[in-house]
Amino acid sequence: MTTNKELLAAEAGALAKTARIKYFDIVIDSGKGALLKDVEGHTYLDLLASASSTNTGHAHPKVVAAIQQQAAKIIQYTPAYFANSPAAELAQKLADIAPISGPVKVAWGNSGSDANDGIIKFARAFTGRQYLVSFMGAYHGSTYGSLSTSAVSLNMARKIGPLLPGVVKVPYPDPWHRLPDESETAFVDRMFAAFLEPFKTYLPAEETAVIMMEPIQGDGGIAKAPTEFVKRVADFAHQHGILFAVDEVNQGLGRTGKMWSIQHFGIEPDLMSVGKSIASGLPLSAVVGRAEVMDSLPAPGHLFTTSGNPVTTAAALATLDVIQEENLPERSARLGKLAADFFAEQAEKHAFIGNWRMYGLDGGIDIVDPQTKAADPVATTKLIYRIFQLGAIMISLKENILRFQPPLVITEKQLQQAFAILAQAFAELEMGKL
Ligand code: PLP
Repeated sequence: MTTNKELLAAEAGALAKTARIKYFDIVIDSGKGALLKDVEGHTYLDLLASASSTNTGHAHPKVVAAIQQQAAKIIQYTPAYFANSPAAELAQKLADIAPISGPVKVAWGNSGSDANDGIIKFARAFTGRQYLVSFMGAYHGSTYGSLSTSAVSLNMARKIGPLLPGVVKVPYPDPWHRLPDESETAFVDRMFAAFLEPFKTYLPAEETAVIMMEPIQGDGGIAKAPTEFVKRVADFAHQHGILFAVDEVNQGLGRTGKMWSIQHFGIEPDLMSVGKSIASGLPLSAVVGRAEVMDSLPAPGHLFTTSGNPVTTAAALATLDVIQEENLPERSARLGKLAADFFAEQAEKHAFIGNWRMYGLDGGIDIVDPQTKAADPVATTKLIYRIFQLGAIMISLKENILRFQPPLVITEKQLQQAFAILAQAFAELEMGKL
């Protein structure tokens, strides 16, 4: 079997319906940097970076070499019983680069979802409290704990309830929801009042373990909370002995133009979750947090047979080297400015671009009905398909937001090619050709 069609037909009989969100009928064969190739040899510009899990690009030679060398030595011996050297080095490195002062410790996982479950466990163990607070629009994962703190996809919650009890969701201050003529200060005041409401009516702050937040929401639409709001939330948490945890799974590791997205806010979290790009897409995640919090849970409170495995941690060490050596956070900030200029120009031309934002190479572009400004999922789908036909891979968030997250190693030339493709698709939609 060699064609996209044959392979997909073979898979269709065996793959559970839940196992993939359907986009294009292609089977990925290989990748290099920001380019993907399918099994028939068609190439595509990758503007998704495997959902922000390949910030260093596909098949980065240093990451590949680290994986190969480690695999030839030992692939797995469960870190639950014995240390291995890449994991030991990586734990130290993550503790060093975490945006948390004072002693820091880490715990390994295999996915962003289980890292966020870890945050729940560590926070409950440390505080001895039960309640958890998270935000509307958040996506923290698909295991029971992380899904219970998420609020972005109804289909993920269907048929499987009840979810974890004790989770309270508060509104996320998406700047897109600012009222006409509302100043940023008035917006922050209004949203912070909404945040406080549960604590005034039914949620005892002294029984709350953690407030979990994506300071820049990913699946919620690449939306950045106002700095003053996040500061007030973190202050409130600390005044009440509540831990403040950030989810850096999607937005960390250079994606937003800084190493960690929380660094845009000048705040230190007590705990954070890291995943996706940490090992350039191999299954590795970590909870990183203040040592006293991380020591509150007795072994084996949060461990998995393969988490912190030597191959994934060797890949992560090489990934962090690449991120630092190639200044990927700065590169993301610099190339992100080019993308911001491009989308600003396109928004001037096309009334169906209702709003857009770009933080480094991390963007969301709202496609709306030009008259009513209501979300337009049909136009979004048409655009995504046309962009695909023209040779680039892009998907949507919340059905009408184009997700722009290319690998951070994308070249300027490739970025310009991507802009040309997007400009053509936008122009065709404008002319009614799609
Ligand atoms: N947290 C955030 C912010 C995410 O975007 C995701 C995945 O999209 C997760 C957690 C879950 O990570 P994983 O899919 O690796 O379990």
